[in-house]
Order: sequence, then structure tokens, then C-alpha cells
Amino acid sequence: MSQKAVLVTGGAGYIGSHTVIELLEAGREVVVYDNLTNASYEAVRRIEKITGKKPIFYKADILDKKALLEVFSRHSIGSVIHFAGLKAVGESTQIPLDYYYNNITGTIILLQAMKEANVKNIVFSSSATVYGEPPIIPIPETCPTDAKSPYGRTKLFVEHVIRDLCTAEKDWNAALLRYFNPAGAHPSGILGENPTGIPNNLMPYFAQVAIGKRECLSVFGNDYPTRDGTCIRDYIHVVDLAQGHLAALKKLEEKPGCVEYNLGTGIGSTVLEMVKAFNKAVGRELPYKITDRRPGDVPNLTADPTKANKELGWKVKFTLDEACASLWKWQSENPDGLEGYPSEAPAECVLDYLH
Ligand code: NAD
Ligand code: UDP
Repeated sequence: MSQKAVLVTGGAGYIGSHTVIELLEAGREVVVYDNLTNASYEAVRRIEKITGKKPIFYKADILDKKALLEVFSRHSIGSVIHFAGLKAVGESTQIPLDYYYNNITGTIILLQAMKEANVKNIVFSSSATVYGEPPIIPIPETCPTDAKSPYGRTKLFVEHVIRDLCTAEKDWNAALLRYFNPAGAHPSGILGENPTGIPNNLMPYFAQVAIGKRECLSVFGNDYPTRDGTCIRDYIHVVDLAQGHLAALKKLEEKPGCVEYNLGTGIGSTVLEMVKAFNKAVGRELPYKITDRRPGDVPNLTADPTKANKELGWKVKFTLDEACASLWKWQSENPDGLEGYPSEAPAECVLDYLH
């Protein structure tokens, strides 16, 4: 693939911003496209602080085809990494239409704009949630899929949309990346996950317990069929995950058609093991209590990453302890995350034909 620019939708968000850093550090030109519904423009400033490079940024929506076409016409873009989407499982059961519209319709509009602009390489953020309650652990990509929530179904449906497109039109290439549980932050402590409101996910919640914003971690159930009764997940350092996207972009150069990859470590940790690992990073025992199960949680999601290891030449480099240490560095040095910094994008970055 020529070294054309990479369009990164959702590039101001948690995983997107860390991927933009790795792309810039690898010398790639990056165009970030984000409507900032779940991100702050301060993340873009922090990317520049870390890399010394200012990414091109548009505050715009993937539902806005005219804005997408405008960006494709302004820049020579060769591929798209598509992170933009709504991601809270619980919220998706409350407002399913918003999730289906934003995540599915938004992706279809993005694909239509890509087709018109003749950009036919896409890396898509899918999720381990597409495996539902998998019968095989560790989970290979060949495992049957069965999403259990509206959010999960948006991921599964978009996978089908992209696969069907690649089948129908042979000049498309796609990597569907099924992420396991991203954790940690940039090792500089300058950038990390910036949840708005009460965090839904284990590690950002626990980090807020550690800085005294939340009283106590609730461990959702200890009667699962696992080694200590709490759920097992495969926690992957966000920088390793970001690197997986660079490897996937490279794979698209081989014109593989549509390919799926698990991005995980292959090592599962229980919630109580995560409590222990984070306590070690923080240097004290943090409070937790066992509560009821959270509806929809499955006992074990651990990746078999063999296919990504072999075909992408990608392997995780960071340990769980390093993920916990980087999370604690970010959280302790930025107790309020990016709150308090100007969150709005400069007016010249805004493209909006929807309103
Ligand atoms: P995030 O919310 O931090 O990032 C998503 C970004 O997309 C945000 O910056 C948001 O402002 C932007 N966005 C949302 N809708 C948009 C739209 N219509 N137009 C333009 N921008 C829009 O989430 P994240 O954790 O970085 O996740 C990135 C992707 O990875 C998402 O698609 C998510 O579903 C997927 N994923 C995340 C996890 C996880 O645990 N974080 C796990 C598996 C998959
Ligand atoms: N979890 C928990 N307490 C919390 C949040 C999560 O015990 O406050 C558990 C949850 O039951 C799951 C694991 O931690 O087993 C990871 O949950 P998270 O929401 O971070 O990610 P998921 O795997 O659901 O996408």
C-alpha cells in the first residue's frame, strides 16, 4: 500500500487516540475524524504533546456523508481505521435505536462515502462480545458468533455488512478486529481512558476507587464456574492493541479480502486477580465487595490470538502489571481525566452538514 494518509474515525477516543499516537510515531500521516460525543479535543492536544506531531483533525459525524466526502476530497487517503461508535453495553439496552443508527447506519454511510472516494481498505473495531457465551476457551476466530446485547449485535451486523461488501466487490479489503478487554494507558501518563460519568468498565471504575472518587468496587458475582468464582477476561494493554492496528493495515497491503482477527493476549484473569494486580500497582489494598451478577456477563472470554500472531506478525509486548502501572500513572497524574481542559475543537476543524 502506498503511504497515503489513514483516516481514523473515533480517533479522539480511548483506543483511537492511542492508535493515532502509534501511527504518527511510525511516520504515517493521520486524519482524525470524530464528533466528540464521547471525547474531548484535549485528547488531540495530548497526542501532539506525546508525538510532537499535530494530527489533522475534523470534528464531524460519520452519519454526515457530505462531510466525509469533503474530507476524502481534501486529503489523499488510502485506508480507514473505523473506531467511531457508541460502546456501552448497558446503555445499548436502554436506547437501542441510537445504537443501531449510530453504529450500523453510520458505518454504512462511511462505506458508501469510501466507495465514492475509491478508498477500499478498512480496519473495523469489532469486539469479543460477538462470541456471546463461547463453547470453546480460548476462543478461535472460527467459534460461532452470537451477540447478546444491542451493542454486540451492532458489531456482529457490521461485520456481516463488511464481509458481504468484500464478497460482492473484490477490490475491497477489510480487517475485522475483535478486541478483548483493553486496559491501561499511554506509558507517559499523558493520555488514557477518559470516561464521562460513572465508568461501566472494571478498570476505569477501580482506578476511580483508588483516587477516592468512588467508595468501593463492586465485584459482580463470585459464583461463576471459574477458578475463584469471578468472571475471566483477557485484558490487553491499549498500546499493544493500538499496535495491532498497524499490523492489520500492513496486512491489507496483501489484499486479503475480508479477514477476522482476535486481538487479545491469550491469558485470562479473574476479577479478583485484577483486584490483586491493581492493588500491587497502587501499593495498597483497595476496597471491594462481592455483589450480584451483572445481567449479560458471561463467565469467560479469553482469546486464542494464534491467527493474529501468525498472520499479522503481531504479539503483545506489555504485561498485565505494566497495564495496571500505566493506568495508575495516568489516573494519579490526571485525577479528573481531561475534565477542566477546553474540550471543544477550534471552529476551523468543524464540518457539519447535518444541522
Ligand atoms: P470511545 O468512546 O473512547 O471512542 C469512540 C469515539 O467515537 C469517541 O471519541 C466518539 O466521540 C466517537 N464517535 C461516536 N460516534 C460517532 C459518530 N457518529 N461520528 C464520529 N465520531 C463518533 O471508545 P473506545 O473504547 O476507544 O472504542 C473504540 C471502538 O472500539 C468502538 O467502536 C468500540 O465499540 C470498540 N470496542 C471497544 C472496547 C472497549 O472495551 N473499549 C472493546 C471492544 C470494542
Ligand atoms: N466488573 C465488576 N465490577 C465492575 C465492572 C466490571 O466486577 O464495576 C466485572 C464484569 O462482571 C466482567 C469484568 O469485570 O466480568 C469486565 O467487565 P467490563 O465491563 O470491564 O468489560 P466487559 O468484559 O463486560 O466488556
